[in-house]
Amino acid sequence: MAEINNKPKKKIGFYWIYIVLIAFFIGSIVFSSAGSVKETTMTELTKMLKEQDIEKIELINGKTAEIYLNEQGMRKYFPNDTKQTFGKTPNYTLKVSEDRLYTKVDEAQQGLSNPIEVIPVERTNFWGEIIGWTPLLLIIVFWILIMRRMGNGGSGMGGGQIFSIGKSKAQLYDQEKDNKTTFKDVAGLEEAKEEVMEIVDFLRNPMRYTRLGGKIPKGVLLVGPPGTGKTLLAKSVAGEANVPFFSISGSDFVEMFVGVGASRVRDLFKQAKEKSPCIIFIDEIDAIGRARGKNIMSGGNDERESTLNQLLTEMDGFGTNSGVIVLAATNRADILDKALMRAGRFDRQIYVELPDLNGRREIFEVHMRGLKLGNDVEKEFLAKQTPGFSGADIANVCNEAALIAARKNKDNIEKQDFLDAIDRIVGGLEKKNSVITQSEKKVIAYHEAGHATTSWMLEHAHPLVKVTIVPRGKALGAAWYLPDERQITTKEQMYHEMIATLGGRAAEQIIFGQISTGALNDLEKVSKQAHAMVMYYGLDETIGNVSYYDSTGQQEYSFQKPFSEKTAEKIDAEVSKLIESAYQEALRILNEHKDGLTQLAEKLIDKEVIFSDDLVAIFGERPWKQEERSFKRNETTA
Ligand code: ADP
Ligand code: ZN
Repeated sequence: MAEINNKPKKKIGFYWIYIVLIAFFIGSIVFSSAGSVKETTMTELTKMLKEQDIEKIELINGKTAEIYLNEQGMRKYFPNDTKQTFGKTPNYTLKVSEDRLYTKVDEAQQGLSNPIEVIPVERTNFWGEIIGWTPLLLIIVFWILIMRRMGNGGSGMGGGQIFSIGKSKAQLYDQEKDNKTTFKDVAGLEEAKEEVMEIVDFLRNPMRYTRLGGKIPKGVLLVGPPGTGKTLLAKSVAGEANVPFFSISGSDFVEMFVGVGASRVRDLFKQAKEKSPCIIFIDEIDAIGRARGKNIMSGGNDERESTLNQLLTEMDGFGTNSGVIVLAATNRADILDKALMRAGRFDRQIYVELPDLNGRREIFEVHMRGLKLGNDVEKEFLAKQTPGFSGADIANVCNEAALIAARKNKDNIEKQDFLDAIDRIVGGLEKKNSVITQSEKKVIAYHEAGHATTSWMLEHAHPLVKVTIVPRGKALGAAWYLPDERQITTKEQMYHEMIATLGGRAAEQIIFGQISTGALNDLEKVSKQAHAMVMYYGLDETIGNVSYYDSTGQQEYSFQKPFSEKTAEKIDAEVSKLIESAYQEALRILNEHKDGLTQLAEKLIDKEVIFSDDLVAIFGERPWKQEERSFKRNETTA
C-alpha cells in the first residue's frame, strides 16, 4: 500500500543561514577595506590646518575625525597617488576626543581668514554592528540545528522539524488512491471481525444510527500479542467502510520536549475531523496510556500524563456523531490507565489472539494467493508445523519460501522450501559452516536426545516433532515440540515440562559424568517456570494459594517486594526444591531408558536431524493420545 506522508511540507531551507553568514563576512571585508584610510596625528593635523590644506573635517560619532583634503592638500600629500579620491572619501582619519579636536582645530586656525569647522556626523556602522552580533547569531544557528536533530529523533530526515515538532506524525492512507485492505485480507479472527463490523456499518451509514439516537463507540481497543493482525484489522475496517485511515504509534507522541505530545494529539484530531468520517489507529497505546500517578520513580511522567490527558479530552470532546473512530492496539490491556477504558472512550475491547491451527491454515491461504505453488504444498500440514506462529510470522514464512525457491531457480515453490523457511524463522539462519568439533557434536547430540527422551516418556510434556544438531544462529541444537493448544496449564503439566527441559543437562550428566555450560537457556527457562509456579500460580503447597503477580504492572517500578524476608527465603527454598526434584526425575527417566537415549543420540550424530518417526522406532508409540483441547479465552486464568 502506497503511503501518503501527511507531514506538512512547510520546510524551511537552512541554506539561507549559511548564505547570510557568508554575506556578513564579505560585507565586513569590504567595509574594513573601505576604512583602510591612513591614520594621522594631531601634530600633522595642526600643520595641515595651518597651511590650509583641508577641505573639511567630519567628526564621526564624536570619536573619529575624518579629514578631507582640498586640491592643494592633495597635491602636497598624494602627488601621484591615483587611489585617493578627492572629496569623496576621507584622506586621513584620526581617533580623537570631541573636546580635544574642537580646541585643537580652533587653536591651529587662529588668525586665519576662512577657518574650517568640524562637522559632527552620526553614523551607524551597519557591518560593524553585525559583526558584533555574529557570535550570538552562530549560537542561534547551532541551537536550531540541534533542535532539528532532536525533532528528528536522530533519523536525519527532512528539515525544519523545529517548526513542525508539535504536528502529529500520523500517516494517512487514503482509500481511494491506495490498494484497499479489506476483510478478505484478514484470515481467521472471525469474532473480532464480527465485532468491528458494526463500526464499518456506522461509518458507511452514520445516519441510520444517529437518527435513532444510538451511540456508536468512539474508541475500540484491540488487545493481543504483536504480529497477530491488529493493524491489519484496523486498516481493513477503514477499507471496508471506504474511509481514510490515520495510523500513528503511541511512541510517536512521546518526545523529549514538554507539551509536544499533547500538541500532537490535538493536531491529529484536528486533521482527522477535517477528513471525517475516518479512523484513527494508535498502535502501542501503552506508550502513553500506562496507568498514571503511581509511579514515583521516574520523573519523565508528566509529559506522558499530559499527552494522555489530551487524548482523553479529545475523545470526550467530539460528539458520537462526528464520525471519527479511534482504534488502538496494545498487547497489555492490564497496564492501561483505567480512565482510558471508561464509557465513551475505549469502552470496547476486542481480543486478537495468536491463531490456532485453523487460523494458521487460513492465514497461509491468504498469503499463498500470489504465490506459484508446487503440487506437494499442503496448507494443513504447514499449519501443523507452525504452532505458536503469529500471522506476521506466517507471512514471513511464505515470503521466505518464495525467496528460497527462487534462489534454487525453481519454477514453483515446493513443500521443502516452506519447511526450510519455517526452520529459518524458528531458529535464525542455518549456519552450516560454523565449526563444531566432533566431541562437541557428541555432547550436543546427547543433550538434545535427553530432551527428546524425557519429553517422550512424560505424559504431559509436549510431544516432539523434530530434533536437530545443526547449529542455528546462537543455538547449538534445537528441538521442536508440538504444543497442544491449551489455555489452562495444570501443575503436573508444568512439572513435566520442567523435567523435559532439564533432560538435556541430565543426559550430559549420565553419559559424560559432567555438565556443561550449554544448558544456560534451559536453566533460565526452568527457573522462570519454577518461580511462576511458586509465586504467581499458587501451585506450591508450602507457600499456598498466594499470588504475588501484579497484573497492573506497577510492581516493576517499586523496590519493595510484596512479601517479607522470611517468605522470600521460603520461596527460594521451594523453587530450588522444585527444580532439584525435577532434575532427579529427569535422571531417573534417562537412566531407565539409557539404551534408547544412546541409540537416539547416535542417530542424531549420524543424520543431524531426526523426526518423531525415529522416536517411535526406538521407544514405540506413546501410550497417551494427545488431547484436543479448546478452551474459550474467557475461561483462562493466565
Ligand atoms: P500487529 O499490528 O498485531 O502487530 P500486523 O497487523 O502489523 O500485526 O500484522 C503484520 C502482518 O502480518 C500483516 O501485514 C499481515 O501480512 C500478517 N498478518 C497478521 N495477522 C494476519 C491475519 N490474521 N491474516 C492475514 N495476515 C496476517
Ligand atoms: Zn537444552
